[in-house]
Amino acid sequence: MARDRGAQCKQCRREGVKLFLKGERCLTDKCGVERRSYPPGEHGRGRAKQSEYRLQLREKQKARRYYGVLEKQFRSYYDKASRQAGVTGENLLRLLESRFDNVLVRLGFASSRRQSRQLILHGHWTINGRRVNVPSYQVRPDDVIAIKAGSTATQTIRDATELTSAVPAWLLADHDGLTAKMLRPPARDEIDTPVQEQLIVELYSK
Ligand code: SF4
Repeated sequence: MARDRGAQCKQCRREGVKLFLKGERCLTDKCGVERRSYPPGEHGRGRAKQSEYRLQLREKQKARRYYGVLEKQFRSYYDKASRQAGVTGENLLRLLESRFDNVLVRLGFASSRRQSRQLILHGHWTINGRRVNVPSYQVRPDDVIAIKAGSTATQTIRDATELTSAVPAWLLADHDGLTAKMLRPPARDEIDTPVQEQLIVELYSK
């Protein structure tokens, strides 16, 4: 599976915000953004020229990196969002939030999207009783998520739940039974991804 293999902390420093790509480490003072709050590279501390295009581009890159999605796939999410009824930017965020790998992170069953993807690819989860090993699978309302019987990742998943303080209201999680359900699609104010989706819409509508 193709994915962005760049150094994760550098991605956060480039965007100037914590994207929580490394799980537990992101919650400690070893976080790259906390230690070096300037972009990586030789000219990192210089002043970058701000243009409208640059702001829009950075916002799109930030969202793409946050969800761990490559450019081509991100563009196809945008195209799908623009064909749906409603506000395109909100539709886009809703599609990204409903990805199986993201839902597991929101439920507290994985400490990062990278770990989540690995657990899914290795077949540790089922949806509605069937094994699903596709991280981009779109979870739908009433879908029931459960750990596969006999999974060897039970302890890893339980460790991840320890780091979770709250599960969003559009999801229902049972951290003892390691099962969950999507109750409904998330509303915009329930998505705390640090992006201004309107800038992404402006970029792609040029
Ligand atoms: Fe980003 Fe986490 Fe690295 Fe901090 S520790 S810079 S939040 S990946």
